[in-house]
Amino acid sequence: MTSTFPPPISEPDPSTFTCSSSLVGPCSGCQRNTHRYGSGGLPLCHWCMTTARENWDTGVRFNNTRTPAG
Ligand SMILES: [Zn+2]
Repeated sequence: MTSTFPPPISEPDPSTFTCSSSLVGPCSGCQRNTHRYGSGGLPLCHWCMTTARENWDTGVRFNNTRTPAG
């Protein structure tokens, strides 16, 4: 099992390290500082985005073709 837990909220998202500080804003989910504005900015931090994507994946899952049990 390899589970990646997000760092404390006091830790800014790694995306803030590579963008201008003027583009940094609070994550809509956890209020962590993240690259929110400008080109490439997202309202959610890396960690919340990962969680959201996982939720979307499960939310839009249809009846997949199941592999026959061998
Ligand atoms: Zn967040």
